[in-house]
Amino acid sequence: MTATIIDGKAFAASVREKVQAHVAHLKASHGIVPGLAVVLVGEDPASQVYVRSKGKQTVEVGMKSVEHKLDADTAEADLLAMIKDLNADDSIHGILVQLPLPGHLNEDLVINAIEPAKDVDGFHISNVGLLGTGQKSMVPCTPLGCLMMLRAHHGSLSGLDAVIIGRSNIVGKPMAQLLLGDSCTVTIAHSRTKDLPDVVRRADIVVAAVGRAEMVLGDWIKPGATVVDVGINRIDAGTKEDGSQKTRLVGDVDFASVSAVAGAVTPVPGGVGPMTIACLLANTLTACCRANSIAEPEGLTV
Ligand code: NDP
Repeated sequence: MTATIIDGKAFAASVREKVQAHVAHLKASHGIVPGLAVVLVGEDPASQVYVRSKGKQTVEVGMKSVEHKLDADTAEADLLAMIKDLNADDSIHGILVQLPLPGHLNEDLVINAIEPAKDVDGFHISNVGLLGTGQKSMVPCTPLGCLMMLRAHHGSLSGLDAVIIGRSNIVGKPMAQLLLGDSCTVTIAHSRTKDLPDVVRRADIVVAAVGRAEMVLGDWIKPGATVVDVGINRIDAGTKEDGSQKTRLVGDVDFASVSAVAGAVTPVPGGVGPMTIACLLANTLTACCRANSIAEPEGLTV
């Protein structure tokens, strides 16, 4: 079997188009412009790239984008004061604090200082609780993007066996809640799981969110299963002509062997990654609609 490639890049473009159309409608009919504030503390190069990309795409869909760049040694009290101001700012509907934060800052404290209705990452403890109890919440962007692609590929997910590898608060656990919400039978595997390949072999849907390059192999996969690769790993790819090191981006899934067995698979790059930012825009729009008691567009959240 040769797997269908689920094109996250094209899917993300369609989500952005939908967001852009609705943003134009909000402006024209209600005079409202959704606003997203991104707060970056320190100079982590990967975080800087993400924040730039988020800002650029926010503007491209017609929303207001505000970036706050703070020094790595910013005091916790100053960061909390900034979040308090953003919570009170009516032109800002979404607030995202880029993680990871420098070690002296308490991430839980900072995330839980964000007004839950503006918590477009869906990490606030209130949103975690709402999602866990099947209530309307802000849904974490990466699992939301995975769910959208799975729904689009399968239609109904009801009754399917899903195995999620990874139990982080930002990917694995909310992914499990979402798939449970869609009536999958969900198993969450992690570093202590026994016979991981055997566990994965039972799955109709596999979501790999581990952070280990090309760990999931083709002979772990039930023929015809759908495999969603969340992992982003940079691996050595030899040396350039000038002697500098070349790197290559790969997922947690060994794409060559898995795509020979699976029914469908998301590639890295071009799978889950683009969907994550598209879902951040979708969440900002959703937050803006809810703040103004305007009907939310269909299909952009759960
Ligand atoms: P974490 O490091 O927080 O969690 C990794 C999980 O994988 C843990 O639950 C860990 O288990 C589990 N794990 C580690 N080793 C093994 C193993 N050998 N077998 C089974 N399970 C294992 O990572 P994140 O959830 O934050 O991210 C996972 C990956 O997804 C990373 O590559 C990250 O870069 C990527 N990512 C991609 C995003 C995107 O937009 N595409 C967004 C967010 C993340 P235990 O709990 O027991 O330690």
